[in-house]
Amino acid sequence: MILRDLIERKRDGGRLSDDELREVANAAAAGTVPDYQLAALLMAIFFRGLDGAETRALTASMLGTGQVLQRPAGAPPWIDKHSTGGVGDKTSLILAPLLAAVGVAVPMMSGRGLGHTGGTLDKLESIPGFRTDLSLAQAAAQLERIGCALIGQTAEIAPADGRLYALRDATATVECIQLIAASIMSKKLAEGLTGLVLDVKRGSGAFLPELDRGLELARTMIALGEAAGVPVVTLLTAMDRPLGNACGNALEVRECLDAMRGHGPADLWTVTEALAIEMLRLARPSLTEDEARTTLLDAMQRGAALEKFREIVIAQGGDVRTIDDPALLPTAPHIGDVLAARGGIVQAIPPRPVGHAIIALGGGRTSKDDRVDPAVGLVLRVRVGDTVVAGQPLATVHARTAAALDAAGERLREIVHLGEQAPADVLPWVSHRVTSRGEELVRP
Ligand code: URA
Repeated sequence: MILRDLIERKRDGGRLSDDELREVANAAAAGTVPDYQLAALLMAIFFRGLDGAETRALTASMLGTGQVLQRPAGAPPWIDKHSTGGVGDKTSLILAPLLAAVGVAVPMMSGRGLGHTGGTLDKLESIPGFRTDLSLAQAAAQLERIGCALIGQTAEIAPADGRLYALRDATATVECIQLIAASIMSKKLAEGLTGLVLDVKRGSGAFLPELDRGLELARTMIALGEAAGVPVVTLLTAMDRPLGNACGNALEVRECLDAMRGHGPADLWTVTEALAIEMLRLARPSLTEDEARTTLLDAMQRGAALEKFREIVIAQGGDVRTIDDPALLPTAPHIGDVLAARGGIVQAIPPRPVGHAIIALGGGRTSKDDRVDPAVGLVLRVRVGDTVVAGQPLATVHARTAAALDAAGERLREIVHLGEQAPADVLPWVSHRVTSRGEELVRP
């Protein structure tokens, strides 16, 4: 393969063959081509795109550079959920144990926070001792034993994606629908799934804020799943404001523990329930939506999701005492309320600046090798549409230092927009459902 020729052809709007894309993926995984040529090819793809066949070939080739989990014959359905990422987006921590509690095995492979978005692995690792670096063999054994494993991407899984994603991140070529779809699906297909639910975020805090781009990403990933024999259902959900109240790693674990005890924020349950129903119906297609909802609510009310979470924490080495006593989770030394400087109606709480405020507190990353402080973050005390009076708490900030607490307070008073009118254009939490048969609007 002469990579220069492929770069030139793609640059000029030509297409790449299956064999060429396989060679690119293999060379990326093996490290036998220089970064500058791969980066140039990624930029050419960013501007020229890939057609359906090229996207399928790239996905299959990236998947083929690693191993695939093998589901044993007769095992229960294996279903996962993947979110395109957001702020306060913590549904995975509830979905995985909830689905496992109703007999659906969940081999969940998650990522770390990057940019303004949080990551499930960072949240889980805020539980002291919790290990997410299981090998595929360990994950498979745990899946068989307790029905769920919460792991990170290892060198065993689509290693070509690891290299290409790092280059995309450094060369501003992340926001390309075909590259995002191939990257996500090459990892998800390595889980040996029988079904996948995608949560594609839309709104100002999403990677792809516009509805039409979110729908196109959904359709592209659904087609890749179908080509591999894995049914995929996508929900488009709102990321024009943070999901739930807590933003920051240990704070989000606490909120999920509350939710599994039935005391979580309503919006968090709205999105979690909608995704859980899709996961359960992929596993048991004969269930109606109402039957799936009843099964899941019953598991929540019996405390079965919380009990399954306890089993997962024990299996992955976490301090199980945190489940009954969340005060044992990491806590920040400086905690204080941010008070409204004036009264008004909350117009917007844009997720990106909230995510950047968390990074400034030390709870997020600007580069992939940064360490995160598990204890810091904020808990929103008002929601979009609420009326507030001067002096009312807008949020509670958890900071490592007094100076960081003050700085976050200043930022938050700017981030929480107050106005005189009821806010316009607030997105529904769940707006669209997309399958291989097409898309439908979701009733509020
Ligand atoms: N998440 C991924 O895993 N890959 C992308 O390209 C974007 C988000």
